[in-house]
Amino acid sequence: MELSTTAINTWCPGCPNFGILASFKEAMTAMVGANETTWENIVVGTGIGCHGKMSDFINVNTFYALHGRVIPVMTGIKLANPKLTVMAFSGDGDSLAEGIEHLIHAAKRNSDFKIFLHNNQVFGLTTGQVTPTSAKGYQGRTTPEGSVEEPLNPLALLLQSGATFLARSYALQPKETAVMMRQALNHKGFGMVEIIQPCITFNDTRPYFKDRFETLPQDYDASDYASAYQALMTKSEKVKLGVIYQVNKPTFEEQV
Ligand code: SF4
Repeated sequence: MELSTTAINTWCPGCPNFGILASFKEAMTAMVGANETTWENIVVGTGIGCHGKMSDFINVNTFYALHGRVIPVMTGIKLANPKLTVMAFSGDGDSLAEGIEHLIHAAKRNSDFKIFLHNNQVFGLTTGQVTPTSAKGYQGRTTPEGSVEEPLNPLALLLQSGATFLARSYALQPKETAVMMRQALNHKGFGMVEIIQPCITFNDTRPYFKDRFETLPQDYDASDYASAYQALMTKSEKVKLGVIYQVNKPTFEEQV
């Protein structure tokens, strides 16, 4: 199936969003090939931000939501037709500033859809303002002397909120990101893959992350809450990549 559209791509040349787009195509092709879903049953939502253009560039069922409101739309779609494979691309500004209340409640309910979070730690589309995940000291258009706030940790927030699948990947590792997307979509319940996505124009974190990633060890137990807490909360120079938490609980749709 041809997954590309004829829309002109307006991302900055070299933006790691291209890697996320490639990961999505690879994950969906693998899932359909393995009869884990069908093209007709795939539904993708997006919010507002650079990530939102994913809706323009993929030839599947898509819904372009208002800013911060993609989560309630996905909740309704999955509830109305539980056999669909439902996911949303969102950004740190979209889901952690505008839509944070929806995010927390979707995790609390364990609604069976997934968020692929393009975490670039900046409002990129509007040319560089702080978001809730911007690093302390980030100098952007609204904080020319540096942000004084500590960044929010999205996966730690969702661990506490009740999410049943939490993973982290790097946009510049598209193969690994595709594997994590597929794992997330084969999980029953609410999940997020936080994709660290440097905004090469307004917040180029590639040098910062260059030697900072650490893949979780083979014997890591993702079903253990305490291990997940430690992986997410321990102050360390290293940022953990992989499936950090996965447990089974009744979903919102099953219970309703
Ligand atoms: Fe990518 Fe940043 Fe350009 Fe947006 S502004 S397309 S996130 S590089």
